[in-house]
Amino acid sequence: MTQPAPPGGPGGHALVTLDGRYHIVERIAAGGMGEVFRAHDAVLAREVAIKVLHRSLAGDQAFVDRFRREARAAAGLSHPNIVDVYDWGAVDGIYYMVMEYVRGRASRELLNQYGNFEPAQAAELVRQTLLGLGTAHHRGLVHRDIKPENILITTDGVVKVTDFGLARAYADGRQTQAGTVTGTVQYLAPEQIRGEPSDPRSDLYSLGVVTYELLTGKLPFTGETAMSIAYKHLSDRVPKPSTVLASVPEDLDGFVASATERDRELRPESAGAMRLDIEAIAPALPAARSLAALVGDMPEVLDDDGNVTEAVAVATATATQTITRTVRTRRRRWRRGLAVVLAVVALAATAWTVWTYAIPHKATVPPLVGATVNDARSQLVDLGFAVRIADGRYDLKVAKGSVLRVLPASGAILKRGETVTLIPSLGLPPVDVPSVAGKPLDKARALLSKNDLTLSVGKRAYDDQVPAGSIINQDPASGQLPQGSAVTVVLSQGPAPRPIPKVVGKDQAVAEQRLAAAGFSVSSQEAFSNSVAAGRVISVSPDAGTTTPYGTTVTLSVSKGPETFPVPDFRGLSRGAAQDLAAKDGLVLDLRAVPGTSGSLVWSQKPGVGTTVRYGDSITLFLV
Ligand code: ADP
Ligand code: MG
Repeated sequence: MTQPAPPGGPGGHALVTLDGRYHIVERIAAGGMGEVFRAHDAVLAREVAIKVLHRSLAGDQAFVDRFRREARAAAGLSHPNIVDVYDWGAVDGIYYMVMEYVRGRASRELLNQYGNFEPAQAAELVRQTLLGLGTAHHRGLVHRDIKPENILITTDGVVKVTDFGLARAYADGRQTQAGTVTGTVQYLAPEQIRGEPSDPRSDLYSLGVVTYELLTGKLPFTGETAMSIAYKHLSDRVPKPSTVLASVPEDLDGFVASATERDRELRPESAGAMRLDIEAIAPALPAARSLAALVGDMPEVLDDDGNVTEAVAVATATATQTITRTVRTRRRRWRRGLAVVLAVVALAATAWTVWTYAIPHKATVPPLVGATVNDARSQLVDLGFAVRIADGRYDLKVAKGSVLRVLPASGAILKRGETVTLIPSLGLPPVDVPSVAGKPLDKARALLSKNDLTLSVGKRAYDDQVPAGSIINQDPASGQLPQGSAVTVVLSQGPAPRPIPKVVGKDQAVAEQRLAAAGFSVSSQEAFSNSVAAGRVISVSPDAGTTTPYGTTVTLSVSKGPETFPVPDFRGLSRGAAQDLAAKDGLVLDLRAVPGTSGSLVWSQKPGVGTTVRYGDSITLFLV
């Protein structure tokens, strides 16, 4: 068996073999616990990552026992969002853990590169992390060191939580020895700082801090020393991310506030509950590039030999600081400092207890019914309450999207941090839409109003089938609408207008039949005509060809032949005057001069004066 390179030593990159099976290819990262290598598993012919513990830690028997137990537990965890632990062991006093090799980047590297995450990207990272954490919690494991360094993202955008068993083993190791605090102080929950046992909700607090950092690119609590940061966790609230970056949606402010409640009782009760919260928020967040794209767009990193590597962790020691007590001689002098830190932490814990229990921290639930859900939520968050939005209900009075009920009701006095539930209104209840097609307008209106709907006439249209004033069709045609909604109908104007047929000169009966067939009513009048034969059509009104509304009454003028009149008196008239008079009345003259006379004046006429004649009749005049 080949000796592995001493962790952290200059030979770290040399190709060595661990336990005769794992060929170390390259060092990926050097963390606080040890080093992580990429290696080739000769037995299963696959790429693996191997974490080798610092020798210094391996000398601590209590720690090693814990490590064994926890490595076994971590190896039992199998979830797509948790880095798989395949194997672990010890060779020549070197403890190692063989893991699935994650081709991708640590979230810390992405933060370093991009500054911060878009809300949708942060939400997705948190969602997947919660899926992994939920499984671990169910198996009784608390991670205790959730931070961007320990949340990896594969090139496919799959989030993988790492550093599991170690965090647990490490923490327990410390607790049994000195009751000191472990973890990364920037992400530690108040109870962990107070030295109380951590539970799954401690991980949720840390993830709340991670969410804040992802969204803003900043840590909520910073300070010169671990002590000052620890104190802030005990005394301050994590600020709203939107105070750093105004574009952070307020839903995420609320999410971070709830996860980072100092009292763990007020946090989401489980990773599952917290995941439901983020899943409720995520769909409304502006779309952003996928996590896979973020990982894919990372600049390549060259390793020390100048080779391109895909998963080289940038040293992270500057980003986070772990409050630890180690057995390394080099660190012994820190023991004193640590004792001071702990004393201050204890003081802070006392202050915190006084603040929490001795001083009342209550607030009254304000009147919120009718306010928009968003307003109500931010009022409640400002008062220090956790907010839960229940499923909506239909209501006749409160508009959709506004608060219908508050539980407990407005006026209730609650401890800050307690949960207030808002029930949003879904607006008016839906009703069935009846069909009113073909019905007259009045009836349609009555039918709709019986179903609490109103009718709105949208368009009018010609229709050969649907009578004028009845409904041709409606929108929507069926289904359901909120009570009080309008159904828009198309109202018939009956058949379309059409041109009047040509009937002038036709026999009256034929003309009337043609007009009726075209949809018109007919009214006929008689008139004299000197040119159109009796019984035939003289004229039509409106004129033939005029486009006329269907059903309009068309007037026919039917000839009753030429006009009749009494014969005027021609007697005594000169020949010329007689001819003028005859022309005026349309009479034809037969002039006869009495023989032996000059024939210049009319002496008599036939037919006689007053006899009824008609246009074109002939009159005989005798002239003397
Ligand atoms: P430590 O206890 O030293 O923090 P971690 O398990 O967190 O050790 O690993 C340190 C770094 O090594 C991680 O931030 C990550 O960049 C890299 N790393 C850890 N596990 C893997 C893995 N399975 N595949 C690829 N890289 C890994
Ligand atoms: Mg780590």
